Amino acid sequence: MNNQTRFNLSESDVPKFWYNILADMPVPPAPVLNPQTLEPVTPDFLSVLFPMELIMQEVSSDRFIEIPDEVRDIYKLYRPTPLLRARRLEKMLGTPAHIYYKHEGTSPVGSHKANTSIPQAFFNKAAGTKALTTETGAGQWGAALALACNFFDIDLEVYMVKVSYNQKPYRRYMMETFGAQVFASPTDRTMYGRSVLAADPENNGSLGIAISEAVEVAATSGGAKKYSLGSVLNHVLLHQSVIGEEALKQMDMAGEYPDVVLGCVGGGSNFGGIAYPFLRQNLREGQRARIVAVEPTATPSLTKGMYTFDYGDTAKMAPIVKMHTLGHDFMPAPIHAGGLRYHGMAPSVSALYDAGLIEAVAVPQLATFQAAVMFAQAEGTIPAPESAHAIRAAIDEALDAKEKGEKRVILFNLSGRGDFDMPSYQSYLSGKLEDYEYPEEAIRKSMANLPKVATPA
Ligand SMILES: *Cc1c(COP(=O)(O)O)cnc(C)c1O
Repeated sequence: MNNQTRFNLSESDVPKFWYNILADMPVPPAPVLNPQTLEPVTPDFLSVLFPMELIMQEVSSDRFIEIPDEVRDIYKLYRPTPLLRARRLEKMLGTPAHIYYKHEGTSPVGSHKANTSIPQAFFNKAAGTKALTTETGAGQWGAALALACNFFDIDLEVYMVKVSYNQKPYRRYMMETFGAQVFASPTDRTMYGRSVLAADPENNGSLGIAISEAVEVAATSGGAKKYSLGSVLNHVLLHQSVIGEEALKQMDMAGEYPDVVLGCVGGGSNFGGIAYPFLRQNLREGQRARIVAVEPTATPSLTKGMYTFDYGDTAKMAPIVKMHTLGHDFMPAPIHAGGLRYHGMAPSVSALYDAGLIEAVAVPQLATFQAAVMFAQAEGTIPAPESAHAIRAAIDEALDAKEKGEKRVILFNLSGRGDFDMPSYQSYLSGKLEDYEYPEEAIRKSMANLPKVATPA
């Protein structure tokens, strides 16, 4: 075992390949369906929204896909990211467990999302795309795509959930600094936005509505604009595999192998990013790490949702996928982890959970912020509220190991920094933050509106 605190790789260790979990899944995810016909989508339907190279990645069964040099060159601005041993946190907990974290908060936009925004902008540029549209909740994804579009000289329109646009303006200023145009969704720029505002002029927006607006703008642009999504899809999780590939090498440097690997899940991309390379070692190399997805109790799509076909957005314009879902019109409670407030889950994460190859746990908001503050005080980095879910579960693992007197090696992904989330910390510190009950009634209602898909063979 190596007694260092920080495990740094060199520039030449920036991965040359992305890892595609679809090559190793015992049960492949179900086909993606067209929201109008409920039939499997054709490449034609998808090509309205995405460039062909990303569509090919979406359906590829190749185990490894080469990372273009242009993408690696930009990754080098912040990759390889460090892996640290949380020695001071271990001491604070008095645990015999060893806790490691992969620090994706070191990217220029403060989260893992740049790992996919950069290749998405690159493959769009290569296909001749001049403009992209997207949605963003609290602004992490919008900021990451704005960064990437700036590098590849692509115009960007961001539909930002109105409540965040007004209450969390700093990431909006960041997007604007990178040259993006940001609109408070629902807007009057789309048919769908206008219909939402006609029914409710005070509507504060939701991620599902913002996705619908961004998709509508691209789909009705006559090919001038394409759309980009920051999570959920196979190609997004593919790009995030750089996290786990680096972490495998870094755990090797540390001379240890994790007993448990944890990541928070919104749509599943940072979790897939850290977990899938370790899952490959389970499936192909006989390793036995436990792989755990951590979600908020307020949006418990894995632990309480149904594994079924559902729309990716509120207006039913986005493709239908089979996933763990709370229903496409489920309105999550206003928890401070904006990046985890999505009704669905990546199809690959859903299929792996259904097959029993990964575990899931739900943690409540107050316990999550308590863990965030402990981590900040021990390690000095203020975590994003999303990432704090993984920290909560990692601390619970470490305390369980302490109780059982076990030496357990724990690895979690620190998906982002919380510098722009200080108002959330302030609410917690002043005792204003609350837990939300399991939203049973809201889930039941929204489940009644699932698409009526005949179970495909
Ligand atoms: C967006 C975001 C998440 C949630 O998205 P996933 O696709 O599930 O990773 C988690 N952490 C941070 C810091 C984010 O910005």
